[in-house]
Amino acid sequence: MTARTAGSAKAALADAAPVPFWTDRPDRPEAREPLRGTTQADLLIVGGGFTGLWAAIEASDRGVGDVAVVEAEEVGFGASGRNGGFLSESLTHGLAHGEALWGRELRELTRLGRQNVSEILEFCRAERIDAKATMCGKSTVATRPHHLAQLQVARDLHLRHGEQAELLDGDQMRADVDSPTYLGGLKLTTGSGLLDPALLCWGLKSAALRRGVRIYEHTSVHAMRRSHAGIQVTTSHGSVHARKVLLATNAYPPLLRRLRHRILPIFDHVLVTEQLSERQRASVGWRDGQGLTDIGNQFHYYRRTPDDRILWGGYDAIYYFGNRTDAWREQRDASHALLAQQFTETFPQLEGVQFTHRWAGLIDSTSRFTPVFGTAMSGRLAYSVGFTGLGVAASRFGSGTALDLLEGRDTERTRLQMVRRKPIPFPPEPLRYPTVQFTRRSLAREDATGQRGLYLRTLDRFGIGFNS
Ligand SMILES: Cc1cc2nc3c(=O)[nH]c(=O)nc-3n(C[C@H](O)[C@H](O)[C@H](O)COP(=O)(O)OP(=O)(O)OC[C@H]3O[C@@H](n4cnc5c(N)ncnc54)[C@H](O)[C@@H]3O)c2cc1C
Repeated sequence: MTARTAGSAKAALADAAPVPFWTDRPDRPEAREPLRGTTQADLLIVGGGFTGLWAAIEASDRGVGDVAVVEAEEVGFGASGRNGGFLSESLTHGLAHGEALWGRELRELTRLGRQNVSEILEFCRAERIDAKATMCGKSTVATRPHHLAQLQVARDLHLRHGEQAELLDGDQMRADVDSPTYLGGLKLTTGSGLLDPALLCWGLKSAALRRGVRIYEHTSVHAMRRSHAGIQVTTSHGSVHARKVLLATNAYPPLLRRLRHRILPIFDHVLVTEQLSERQRASVGWRDGQGLTDIGNQFHYYRRTPDDRILWGGYDAIYYFGNRTDAWREQRDASHALLAQQFTETFPQLEGVQFTHRWAGLIDSTSRFTPVFGTAMSGRLAYSVGFTGLGVAASRFGSGTALDLLEGRDTERTRLQMVRRKPIPFPPEPLRYPTVQFTRRSLAREDATGQRGLYLRTLDRFGIGFNS
C-alpha cells in the first residue's frame, strides 16, 4: 500500500462502527430471557444461527415434541447475522468444487440445492418473512488476463448444469458495472440471489417461536454428558436434560472433541459504505443489482444493500494459531485497511466515500469446502457444521440432514456420499498454523501467476484445501 492510499483508506474507515451492518438497526428484536435453572426438552438445539433456527422449525413441523434452542449471545450473532447475504443454490461450494469432489452425485446435489432455495423462498412467502430476497443472479469478474480462460471453463460448466450463463468481454462487463479493473465477466442469471441475512434470522426466530419452540439467548453450553436415556447439558446459568441434541455451532469451539480437527475457523472481513448519492450510484452502473465476486482464490464478494450502500468483503481470510476465535480479533486494522484500499482501486470514482461499518465473522472451513455431518453419543446427538463460507442457503439443507440422522431416517440426503464421508482432518498444532500459511501463500502465488503449483495440485488429488 502506498502512503497516499494508506492515508485515504484510514480516512475512509475513520468513523466506521466496529459492528456488523445487518444487525445494527433499531428494529432488532428484544433478546429472549436466558435459561435459569433446570429444564427438559425432547430436542435441544445448540446455536441460534440459520442452521439451528431451520432445525427448530423443521423439527416442530415434524412433530418432534418439545424443542428448545440455546444461543450463547443473541440469534444471528454468528455468521448468520454478519455475512454477505449471497443466496446460492450450491450445496458444494460452487459447481467446480462439486464436480471435483462429488462428480458422481453432482446432478442430484444440484437438484437438491435448487429445491432447497425454492423452499426457502416459499417458506418466507408463507410465513410473511420479508428478508428482501431476490434471485438477481451473480457476476464473476476477471481482473487478471489468466482469469479469462477460467471464466470460460466456468461458463461451460454452468451451461452443462442448466444454468443461464453469459460471457462478457471487458467492454461489456464495464458497461454493466463500471470498474477499470475488469477485463471480462461471467454473468449468471440463475442459481444465485441476495437477501438481508439479519431479517431472515429474525424472521426464522419468530417462525420458531410461533411453533412453540423455546429460545434462550445469552445462554452458553459449557458441557454435555450422556445420562439416563438422554444427554445432560450444562449451560451458563442452568442445565437441560435433553432426549436428543443437535449441534449447530458453526466455527465456534466445538463441544464435541472429534470436530476439533475437522473445522478451521477463519476470520473473514467486511466493510459497508455510507449510502451512495444518485450521482455516485450512476457512476457505477450496476442496474441489475446482482452480487459480484472476482474469480481468484483470494476473492472479494460485494453487493448493493437494499438501502443503496455497498457491502465489500472477503480476500484477507485469517487463521490464528490454535483455532483461536476470540471476539477481539474481529477488528483487524490491516485487513480492513487492505479492503478499503482495494475498494478504491476497484471503484476509483467512489474515492472519498466513507465506510460506516467494519467487522469480521467466522467461517467454518473444512478441508473439502463442504459440511461435515454425523452423530455421536449413541445417536442421541447430531451435528451439521462446515459450510465454508457458503451456508446462507446450504445451512437449511444441513439442518434437515442432521435431523434425518438424529431420527435414524434413511433419506436421499443421508444416502449422499457428501453426507456419509467425513472430510480429511486438518493436522494438529503446531503443524496446522504453518500448513495453513503455506497453503495461503501457494494460493496467492497462483492468483498472481495463473500457475497452480505442485503442492496445490497434490492437495487437489486428495480433495483437500482450505477456503473462505
Ligand atoms: C463474513 C462472512 C460472510 C459470509 N458470506 C456468505 C454469503 O454471502 N453467502 C453464503 O451462503 N454464506 C456466507 N457466509 C457463510 C454463512 O454465513 C454461514 O455458513 C451460515 O450463516 C452458518 O450458519 P450457522 O447457523 O451454522 O452458524 P452461525 O450463524 O455462526 O451460528 C452458530 C451460533 O452458535 C452459537 N454458539 C456457538 N457455540 C455455542 C455454545 N457453546 N453454546 C451456545 N451457543 C453457541 C454462536 O453464538 C452462533 O450464534 C459468510 C460467513 C461470514 C463469516
